[in-house]
Amino acid sequence: MIKDIPHLGNYIKISENEANIYERVGLKYPWQLTEYYASLIDPDDMSCPIRLQSIPDIRELETTFGEDDPLTEDENSPVPGVIRVYPDRIAVIVTNKCPVYCRHCLRKRFTRDRSDDLKGQRLETVLSYIRKDRAIRDVLLTGGDPLMLSDNELDGIIGGIRSIPHVEIIRVGTRALCTWPERVTDEFAKMLASYHPVWVSTQFNHPREITQEAENAVDRLLKQGIPVNNQSVLLREINDSVDTMLKLNRKLVSIRVRPYYLYQAQTLAGTKHFVTTVEKGLEIIKGLRGWTTGFAVPQYVLDTPCGKIPLNPNYLTGRDGDFVEMLNYRGEHWREYNPLP
Ligand SMILES: *Cc1c(COP(=O)(O)O)cnc(C)c1O
Ligand code: SF4
Repeated sequence: MIKDIPHLGNYIKISENEANIYERVGLKYPWQLTEYYASLIDPDDMSCPIRLQSIPDIRELETTFGEDDPLTEDENSPVPGVIRVYPDRIAVIVTNKCPVYCRHCLRKRFTRDRSDDLKGQRLETVLSYIRKDRAIRDVLLTGGDPLMLSDNELDGIIGGIRSIPHVEIIRVGTRALCTWPERVTDEFAKMLASYHPVWVSTQFNHPREITQEAENAVDRLLKQGIPVNNQSVLLREINDSVDTMLKLNRKLVSIRVRPYYLYQAQTLAGTKHFVTTVEKGLEIIKGLRGWTTGFAVPQYVLDTPCGKIPLNPNYLTGRDGDFVEMLNYRGEHWREYNPLP
């Protein structure tokens, strides 16, 4: 892990002014990278997509935009460590730590408001909450990044959840496949697979993140029968073009990762410079749907305190008597005979 300027200086050039900025921003929003992720930065390109996601930026200190906790997760928390928005599934915060502190992180507040990892009494409370509610059939471990815990600690948590009969599936959300692929070992994959059905979600945001190391790490999970879904975030000047998103999603399916969600960036304190318009996101989805493999197109969503809202381009344009009128992926008109009852 890289946590200080001299260490980071082995990977990128840092002027005195930049060093000052990193320190100032770091007081409010801590920064940290893995050596692996830092090695992906192009040191000569100030707009390198890896750099923009991981190196502090003075614009983070603009506090004129958004809130710390836009999803009011702190209010949707029935017991410490559980976030519940849906009737049949919950998110469980396993830790607040991450290998890389993404500058666009939705839970940016976490890195400041440190709380405990999920163990001891805290874990017991979460397990008994799940045990008491038979409606919970899907448990999503998130954070922070759960892979900051040891295999042993995760084994304890996942084993505890798996022992509850009404829990059908367990999901682990981790960005380690992208930011710290060596953490995803064969041993880890085997441990997870011993609690099947287990699914993993991850976050690749740019085609340059899909390296041989990342592909190998994904393969270690797939070999154990663990499906991997990707949840990318739409980020201004990082991946907000049809061309970049086509490349990203085609590369993902070529390493057998299924694009799942594309998140609209939130109205969140310290991240204004990443946010695009919703219209931009819809334009990107239109540029993917039909133009590439159907399952290489993620569902574009806005996450809200009351659940994820799908954002879809409109292909249905109206009705004319017994015909419905629509557009194909090229924007050409189609009329389908569809008589009214
Ligand atoms: C995203 C999320 C889930 C999982 O939602 P899916 O659409 O099933 O992937 C569950 N709980 C919370 C609080 C979430 O934010
Ligand atoms: S890995 Fe996820 S939780 Fe951690 S900083 Fe990045 S986006 Fe936030």
